[in-house]
Amino acid sequence: MRYWTATRLAKLARQASKAAGKKGTDLPGQVARRVDKNILRKLASQVDEIVFISGTNGKTTTSNLIGHTLKANDIEIIHNNEGANMAAGITSAFILQNKKNTKIAVIEIDEGSIPRVLNEVTPTMMVVTNFFRDQMDRFGEIDIMVNNIAKAINNKGIKLLLNADDPFVSRLKIASDTVVYYGMKAHAHEFEQSTMNESRYCPNCGRLLHYDYIQYNQIGHYHCECGFKREDTQYEVSSFTLTPFINLNIGSKTFNMKIAGDFNAYNAIAAYSVLRELGINDDGIRKGFETYTSDNGRMQYFKQDSKEAMINLAKNPAGMNASLSVGEQLSGSKVYLISLNDNAADGRDTSWIYDADFEKLTRQQIETIIVTGTRAEELQLRLKLAGVTVPVILERDIYKATAKSMEYKESFTVAIPNYSSLAPMLEQLNHSFEEVKAK
Ligand SMILES: [Zn+2]
Repeated sequence: MRYWTATRLAKLARQASKAAGKKGTDLPGQVARRVDKNILRKLASQVDEIVFISGTNGKTTTSNLIGHTLKANDIEIIHNNEGANMAAGITSAFILQNKKNTKIAVIEIDEGSIPRVLNEVTPTMMVVTNFFRDQMDRFGEIDIMVNNIAKAINNKGIKLLLNADDPFVSRLKIASDTVVYYGMKAHAHEFEQSTMNESRYCPNCGRLLHYDYIQYNQIGHYHCECGFKREDTQYEVSSFTLTPFINLNIGSKTFNMKIAGDFNAYNAIAAYSVLRELGINDDGIRKGFETYTSDNGRMQYFKQDSKEAMINLAKNPAGMNASLSVGEQLSGSKVYLISLNDNAADGRDTSWIYDADFEKLTRQQIETIIVTGTRAEELQLRLKLAGVTVPVILERDIYKATAKSMEYKESFTVAIPNYSSLAPMLEQLNHSFEEVKAK
């Protein structure tokens, strides 16, 4: 009865919030959890496979690639694909998407929410992308977070799919007897080296890790005197190219994808590993991998006539460096559109931009850089300190700034919003490209 009331009320809440013009991905879950605190546990028990996707960067892309590919193979799934990745949002997805023959749930989960959600749901499989410095005011240091996650998943019989190349992620092997590793061969691709090296210490003993090969940051092939090392992989990217979309080589197979950004090759191999473990073969995976395009502001590509743009969310130094690297792979002239807001969701402290490598911009062919958002001046100063000499335009209004970038018709727009800048920037880009089309 409680269960029925909870799900019924949740659906009503969804309708009400939709009518009010809100997306309402958390609200139904919040309502249902208020009525029945065991609701998620009950709903989760109705499916056979629950896949959790977590990590600092790339979990949305990884989760969407998995979801899209399963759907492309006519498999019904529950999927929290709107980035609702905490307990309430996950509950919403289970309530609103549950159909009779749905047997698989693909759930992106915020790394900080893992202990709480694992109290209610035990996934059959969990894939972890990477752990970078991000939102540390919320989680504390990486080591503490990793240990808390390990504690939460310990002895629950969860099959772990771990990025062998990230020592923090592979550290989680202490928490399960069933571990599958994925990764990338040395020299698979020349990643844009970032300047950060804060975390190249052994998570097991604290000594400096020895690296035989570094892909980027702490990601690579490493070993330690204590015996901790990069494990052999079951699924591995042998090489890939960017045109700017990823052409991914796994064994003898090539997947010509429609997503860009070199670090997305890691998300692709993470998704590939999950799909293979779920029993999908290479042909089935190709159906999804070669048709998936981002629509959420993560390496999302736009083209109409000669105008091209790409938007990529960057909310920490690693994300910013990756976004700035996209420009290096694009030939021809570029216009950069960079936004920095300091709303609650962004974190009030914007000093992380000083850990990002804006110096990259001094080595690219750039027509103009437009800075926007509530902290646009901060960005302007950062660019100045980086030695950027191209014209910088300051326009605090994100809509106007985005529309302005369209005036540079022969330049490729590289749009980089932080968290709360994403929605307005994406809205304006969609609108502007519709306008180009209509002309
Ligand atoms: Zn060690």
